[in-house]
Amino acid sequence: MTEPGPYSAHEFDGVPRIEGAVGVPDAYQRLWVPHRMAYIRTNHVGDEPEDEGCPFCRAPSLPDEDALIVARGEHAFVLLNLFPYNSGHLLVCPYRHVPLYDEATDAEVAEIAALTQTAMRVLRADSGCDGFNIGLNQGRIAGAGVADHLHQHVVPRWASDANFFPIIAETKALPVLLGETREALAAAWPR
Ligand SMILES: [Zn+2]
Repeated sequence: MTEPGPYSAHEFDGVPRIEGAVGVPDAYQRLWVPHRMAYIRTNHVGDEPEDEGCPFCRAPSLPDEDALIVARGEHAFVLLNLFPYNSGHLLVCPYRHVPLYDEATDAEVAEIAALTQTAMRVLRADSGCDGFNIGLNQGRIAGAGVADHLHQHVVPRWASDANFFPIIAETKALPVLLGETREALAAAWPR
């Protein structure tokens, strides 16, 4: 059998080939992020589990510990992302089930902004992070996992997290780490 492309039969881009493996090497490197499957599996358009309801509408009815809620405001609340990109990945949500930012009321927008600022201060003080990614995915096509209920991501970043391995490692011990993280951030949150 002739090998396609200019690569040797025994390695590709410095990585030894596995004998008998299926597929042909190409120019792309793969980053495997299995924790994303939880979103992908449950969020196909038109494939939502009908009895599950909206997780961000349900969360405030639960105890803080069960819902991973860090702080509750008047119009919005803060909780840990169950599928974090990084340790301390927070979501700021209005209580109201509203999908888009431009549909939020002035009071909701103001409190989401204020809670986001407090989240930055608490995360910085608690974890010594070096930066943040803050943003809104608006619509499923833009990457929103729960597209029907507005939520702002606040993701702390460390200079050393660029290799993504801390994220993958975090996934293995998620329940313990999330509970501990929630406790620490809730304790540090100004009342
Ligand atoms: Zn909702």
